[in-house]
Amino acid sequence: MDKDTRDYAEELDKNDPLKEYRDQFYLPIQKDGSPFVYFCGNSLGLQPKTTRSYIEQELKDWESLGVEGHFHAKNPWMPYHEFLTEAMANVVGAKPAEVVVMNTLSVNLHLMMVSFYRPTSKRYKIVMESDAFPSDRYAIESQIKFHGYEVKDALLELKPREGEVLVRHEDVEVLLEKEGEEIALILLGGVNYYTGQVFNMKEITKLGHAQGCVVGFDLAHGAGNLELELHKDGVDFAVWCSYKYLNSGPGSLGGCFVHERHAYNKTLPRFAGWWGHNKDTRFNMRHSFDPIPGAEGWQLSNPPILSLAAMRASLDIFNEVGMRALNVKSVALTNYLEFLLDELRDERIAIITPRDIAQRGCQLSIQVRNADKSLFEQITAKGVIADWREPDVIRVAPVPLYNSFVDVFRFVEILKSCL
Ligand SMILES: *Cc1c(COP(=O)(O)O)cnc(C)c1O
Repeated sequence: MDKDTRDYAEELDKNDPLKEYRDQFYLPIQKDGSPFVYFCGNSLGLQPKTTRSYIEQELKDWESLGVEGHFHAKNPWMPYHEFLTEAMANVVGAKPAEVVVMNTLSVNLHLMMVSFYRPTSKRYKIVMESDAFPSDRYAIESQIKFHGYEVKDALLELKPREGEVLVRHEDVEVLLEKEGEEIALILLGGVNYYTGQVFNMKEITKLGHAQGCVVGFDLAHGAGNLELELHKDGVDFAVWCSYKYLNSGPGSLGGCFVHERHAYNKTLPRFAGWWGHNKDTRFNMRHSFDPIPGAEGWQLSNPPILSLAAMRASLDIFNEVGMRALNVKSVALTNYLEFLLDELRDERIAIITPRDIAQRGCQLSIQVRNADKSLFEQITAKGVIADWREPDVIRVAPVPLYNSFVDVFRFVEILKSCL
């Protein structure tokens, strides 16, 4: 059977051990009643069908118990965030004590920099990607200024070489070799949101530590997408959101990782709040702050339970499937997409995401030369939800939990018909 046929894609779906999970999600529906090809899980993950009942449980307990729900709800709200810890730790390859669900990504990024960006006159620089997500740049630049340094002196940008779109690992090595002694913090996206490039987190952490730098990652596009090993890789800290690959709903809470070699260090400077205080004495309302050992000690506020409930619905699915199995399907799905795109043999199309599967997750960024947004509008009208980045890039993310090989096939057929 030829691989570039719908029959072949259907065969792949039939043999997919995770095929039943698609039905556990609501797929956005077109006017004619058929589902869209939804390739935007890197932006907003789809809603699990179980989410509503998880939220309704908390609404019901609030309705009937009022404040008593903090202790007597079916899932008491006081420790509610703890119900998520183990599943979240599994998703990112961490020990439970190293992980906490709290706030949102940019907030957590600031909180982590408060503790882990401690510039001195000799070591004050931060390394970031030149095309990082804007929020990360704003956060980093404002931290530099907050400490009284100039962005032009303190910010080191990792850039692709002239005429290239990806950052070369050897250029990371060269930069650290040259500037290492002055670098306080290396802060990179585990997966670049634009190109889909995955950095070698383990190697970069090792190189950074050899130079005495702190190494942190923004895993907005990594959590729930890659099989991460934050603990083993020795990463100092990481932050991520849960509304992309982790399907926890628009604006839902973020996650935060603090490696255990720091997590128990009560003397680390931090911005504190009552929810990070020792649970046994939190309600004594005493004056001196006694942080909870572990990542939980970085919490500020009591968290929004309805969002945590949505996240719990999603993490229960991740926990059942496991990142290993998801990753196996993810590689197959994205490889199939790559294969079909190559089969188009269209000179205008270039995949800017790395070809090496170790350097990418599920997303492919497709550059269409001489195209403008009208191409994207056409494929949208034909039933694809993807993402357009000026000037000429379509980002597509076939998500292994709910996308199928037929989705991939349909997408490429639609793209072909619009070119
Ligand atoms: C999505 C994303 C964010 C979003 O930050 P929020 O604080 O959740 O709004 C930040 N950084 C990166 C790299 C992202 O991909």
